[in-house]
Amino acid sequence: MDNFPSTFLDAQNFPAVLDDIDTFIFDADGVLWLGEAVMPGSPALVDFLLKKGKRVIVLTNNATKSRAVYSEKLAKLGYNKQIGKNSIVNPAAVVADTLHRQGLSEGKKVYLIGTQGIKDELDDLGIEYFGDGPDPVENHHDGKTAFIYDLELEEDLEDVGAVVVGYERHFNYIKLMKAANYLKDESCLFVATNEDETCPGPNPNTVIPDAGPIVAAVQIASGRAPVVVGKPNTPAFEYICRRWEINPQRTMMVGDRTNTDVKFGKYHGLKTCLVLSGCHQVEDVLDHHENDRHDMVPDFYAENLGSLVGKEVHMTKKEAAAHLLEKLTLAEGPYVPQPSRVLAYY
Ligand SMILES: [Mg+2]
Repeated sequence: MDNFPSTFLDAQNFPAVLDDIDTFIFDADGVLWLGEAVMPGSPALVDFLLKKGKRVIVLTNNATKSRAVYSEKLAKLGYNKQIGKNSIVNPAAVVADTLHRQGLSEGKKVYLIGTQGIKDELDDLGIEYFGDGPDPVENHHDGKTAFIYDLELEEDLEDVGAVVVGYERHFNYIKLMKAANYLKDESCLFVATNEDETCPGPNPNTVIPDAGPIVAAVQIASGRAPVVVGKPNTPAFEYICRRWEINPQRTMMVGDRTNTDVKFGKYHGLKTCLVLSGCHQVEDVLDHHENDRHDMVPDFYAENLGSLVGKEVHMTKKEAAAHLLEKLTLAEGPYVPQPSRVLAYY
């Protein structure tokens, strides 16, 4: 495409680029998998890179499941066994690490608005938490006094060292009120997984709020700004730098979203590649280019990962949408990242 701001990559020119890269960081949904299905051709590219001695890291923005669960998913989808739990980074792990490093004081607990993924990672580091799961208004209402005037906090403020907020389908006014009250203590840390606005679902006409609106509610009610760990923010990058010795200039971030994946790469001096197998498309790149949003214009773009090793997999948007509808069921859990992907397919 003439004058397109990014370089198109395929099996012909990828080897030349490969010489300049030691580490590849892949987003997961829309890149390695699509909902519950493997992205055709991607396992072959990962095999190819590992054979060439390249380091492969998976960085997802989904905090609903732990790294152990994602590791099982990768294995089930046929990915190289070398890519296990220790190759994966998700916001839940970064949250736990952030609390650990910021010195969540001995004996202090975390008030958690979040799901199993965060619980698993906090358990891994022996961090105590409470508050997860349903907390209905009825439990706080004796029928006489308005609950907002006599809401009982289960822990004293001085015993709560952090409020952690992520996707939580049981989020309600009680949880908001508790979070805002625990955060009155300025020494109480406020950490959020990610700020994605919405999640995709099988029905493109239904808006499914993600963690972003929940984080925003707590932020406004408490008057506190959270440390947000997910892409495009820096805690995820710092976490990667602590775990692996990477040279940013010889590292490529590959993702399907310009506002999380590409931005993350650009903010942290990495090379960036957008794959068109998920959320954002060439029109989005052109739009960013025309609006001088160079932080969201990738250096490279490719059809999908398989195309970089000659595994030409042309899943049309219609096929991909059908695939999604078949595989993506709410019973599997409410959250799969890439908010506008499903909409983009229609
Ligand atoms: Mg993605």
